[in-house]
Amino acid sequence: MREEVSAGGVVVFKNAILLLRKYNGDWVLPKGKIEEGEDKKTTALREVKEESGCRASINDYLGEIHYTYRENWDENKVVHKTVYWYLMETNSIKTNAQREEGFVSAEFIHVDRVLELAKYDDEKEIIKVALKKIKNQTR
Ligand code: ATP
Repeated sequence: MREEVSAGGVVVFKNAILLLRKYNGDWVLPKGKIEEGEDKKTTALREVKEESGCRASINDYLGEIHYTYRENWDENKVVHKTVYWYLMETNSIKTNAQREEGFVSAEFIHVDRVLELAKYDDEKEIIKVALKKIKNQTR
């Protein structure tokens, strides 16, 4: 079984969170693979920038998720994946979705709608952790 490790971000601007829409219509958080020798935080910030055009900074660590998938739908090529997530902040909603990376749009979605839109349950859980932390910050 192959292991893959990525890092990504829940990027906050005021009361909205950045989601990316893939060609197939799925809404996901920005993330990408950790390169050799690269720090997780550096990866997360780099991937947010590369996929969405958004410059952000890290405020906190949110947790990790695990899932498995089959490479090219091949029964024998199971990939076990870990993704580390960071809470990030940005001061501009200007985005530029990277079509070459498979994304048709990058949008800041209001916190009240973000959980309905996000495709994966494990990403929803990470968004919930982020929403809790944001609420505590503004109290
Ligand atoms: P990365 O963005 O880390 O470079 P990638 O785009 O190469 O990754 P993934 O986004 O991990 O690959 O997608 C590989 C497979 O896993 C796809 O079939 C996708 O539908 C599925 N997948 C992606 N994210 C999740 C998730 N959070 N939970 C469960 N399955 C997922």
